Amino acid sequence: MATAFSSSQSKLTPERLLEVLVHRIGKDEHAALPHDWLAATIYALRDDIIERWMTSSRQAVADGSKRVYYLSLEFLIGRLLRDALANLGVNEEVKASLAEHGVDLDMIEEIEPDAALGNGGLGRLAACFMESCASLDIPAYGYGIRYVNGMFRQRIADGWQVEYPETWLAHGNPWEFERRESSYRIGFGGEVNGEADGAVEWKPAETLVATAVDTPVVGWRGKRVNTLRLWTARAVDPIRLDAFNAGDHAGALADQVRAESLVRVLYPADSTPAGQELRLRQEYFFSSASIQDIVRRHVQYFKDIRTLPDKVAIQLNDTHPAVSVAELMRVLMDGHGLDLEEAWDITRRTVAYTNHTLLPEALESWPLPLFERLLPRHMQIVYAINAMVLREARTKNMGDGAIAAISIIEESGERRVRMANLAFTGAHSVNGVAALHTELMKQTVFADLHAMFPDRINNKTNGVTPRRWLFECNPGLTALIRESIGDAFMDDAEKLADLNALADDKAFGERIAAVKRANKAALSDYLRHHMNVRLNPDALFDVQIKRIHEYKRQLLNLVETVALYDQIRSHPERDWTPRVKIFGGKAAPSYHNAKLIIKLANDIARRVNSDPSVGGLLKVVFVPNYNVTLAEKIMPAADLSEQISTAGMEASGTGNMKFALNGALTIGTLDGANIEIKDHVGYDNIVIFGLTAEEVAERRANGYAPREIIEESRELQQAVNAIASGVFSPDDPDRYKDLMAGLYDHDWFMVAADFDSYTAAQRSVDARWQDRAGWNRSAIRNIANVGWFSSDRTIGEYARDIWGVM
Ligand SMILES: *Cc1c(COP(=O)(O)O)cnc(C)c1O
Repeated sequence: MATAFSSSQSKLTPERLLEVLVHRIGKDEHAALPHDWLAATIYALRDDIIERWMTSSRQAVADGSKRVYYLSLEFLIGRLLRDALANLGVNEEVKASLAEHGVDLDMIEEIEPDAALGNGGLGRLAACFMESCASLDIPAYGYGIRYVNGMFRQRIADGWQVEYPETWLAHGNPWEFERRESSYRIGFGGEVNGEADGAVEWKPAETLVATAVDTPVVGWRGKRVNTLRLWTARAVDPIRLDAFNAGDHAGALADQVRAESLVRVLYPADSTPAGQELRLRQEYFFSSASIQDIVRRHVQYFKDIRTLPDKVAIQLNDTHPAVSVAELMRVLMDGHGLDLEEAWDITRRTVAYTNHTLLPEALESWPLPLFERLLPRHMQIVYAINAMVLREARTKNMGDGAIAAISIIEESGERRVRMANLAFTGAHSVNGVAALHTELMKQTVFADLHAMFPDRINNKTNGVTPRRWLFECNPGLTALIRESIGDAFMDDAEKLADLNALADDKAFGERIAAVKRANKAALSDYLRHHMNVRLNPDALFDVQIKRIHEYKRQLLNLVETVALYDQIRSHPERDWTPRVKIFGGKAAPSYHNAKLIIKLANDIARRVNSDPSVGGLLKVVFVPNYNVTLAEKIMPAADLSEQISTAGMEASGTGNMKFALNGALTIGTLDGANIEIKDHVGYDNIVIFGLTAEEVAERRANGYAPREIIEESRELQQAVNAIASGVFSPDDPDRYKDLMAGLYDHDWFMVAADFDSYTAAQRSVDARWQDRAGWNRSAIRNIANVGWFSSDRTIGEYARDIWGVM
């Protein structure tokens, strides 16, 4: 950005950068490699950030402000340099200073590793929220785990996904500060003894140490700097000397290795349950460290544990940190001597919970014997909480069925601890992430809990930060908007609405199209360089990038691609709209069908791209290793945003918002936040198709028969049969037999039911594309009317309605 907001910006001179290079990195200009310049730039910037950081902390202490704690097992933060430069307003200055040394800022930004400490939307939401809290001057801490290898790196070998460890820390991490003094003991297993005076003592069998590693989060215009505190694990004793001296050199290090294994990898499971013991250990590890840290800070500043709810708001990002409810109870009772009722009252007033999924198979629960073995004291507390909750339910005349549904303990079949019920009952607020999702929460998963606590469920539609997802990723569009309507939108994204006045201005529409064309050319260059594919930047760029999951229906898109391929070959004389179909996304390594869908995308790409009879009319590309950095390159270059989940299954989506903000039109179902995007941009500027959530539920209830649908739709049947018979997999003709048989037999995600409607919608997109002025007008309407989906608006709502800090 051209404007500078920094008061001490003179620090980022060429001399200063050189001094940092010499004294912090230990190299001179001649010896420095690009990574050294990257580190030097970050260190120099950090010095400026640190002062603001300390000012922010001192201010919060002096004001006695209430603090927000956002607990999340995932933070998908991506690269940080460009974000920090933009938010501090020193981009141009640093670029010029580096240029004096012959170093290109863009080049060093490109070698910064992408911190992929999350699976997808849930983790990216946490990152956007942290940035918005700092931008809105809210004292907030993010708490999570510093995964050494994070999310796996995806490579594509012969069309198949192959997973490799991500090594984002290979060159060290100049952003972070280890805080050895902020270390806590975390226990597992052992036994619980009742004392004569009624006190309880938990003697864990195993103890390890959590240590804080802090990363600064810079808000817009450098207003405030908050802390992302990620926990790392180590053994109490780094080496067992007795074992070492006895000659067992490896065994002497076993405790340390065991501790480190806890923070090695993120479970690659977005919407599927990870049943592993290690996952529960991770959840408790980071919950316990965070709760201990929060309570310690509160008591240090405010002395009185009973004022906790007035000074602390804890937000649980999904149920992954739900064990925090029991941990806070434990700390209040066993550590501070409160009785059960008072501890429960304080806990409930402090904690709030965000639900992210309705998929029953994704609702976390732990086998009771495992939970009890790992966390014996917490098991007692859960029983005690459950007894209180069920007594309360009885006084509210809930029936037996409702009582069973409300119980924190699943009693039918294998007994399990239900983390969603623990989070729901232990929180004063339970929110969904889009209007439809919140409504469905009330009607389905939480129907009985909602009847018992009718005021608890509320909606907070997700948002994305416009700094990263417009200003930084799309400087061309940002410059054009500034030139057209001034800078007010940069501090209030809803002011983008001023662009509405230009929607019918054809010349402006052409300028919007020219920016898009340039972004598409840049993406084409990138993909030619990295994947050796040649794309036509004048074709329609049709993009579906997100985790690979059957409910997101990449398969619907692929079957339609095959049908289109067939049509183009059968009717080469028609006026087809040239399309580039771009796919990207990771599949959980154990998710067989998702991995097969990736292979199918690559098999289709190989066949279609090498078929001269489609001319340049259709290209298919699967871009490997989808992450934040790639999203920042692809979204500004998209014409069409694919948001085609089975209605009722995508809680919100945030990719949909990023695309619209960058001027893509959405083709989508009435699901998640698509519905609210439609309400904002207008029905004429979005392409809606398919069954509604209500219709999906009704079809399922009344016996859905996909076979009949497939047999009645010639195009669909031909496409499905072509895939099933090995047209795209001649080396293994049966590869997709079962996948396609699944469509005939059950088709749980209703690909067949929505196919005809989707195809018709795609052809209507073709027609729109031919009307260039009309397309540009819709693109402008999208950009102008999605400012509401800024995470600043979302965080403002959390702050007022849930946290009480604004
Ligand atoms: C925004 C984002 C997501 C979420 O995308 P959806 O389409 O909402 O599922 C996932 N991964 C990355 C890297 C993102 O930036």
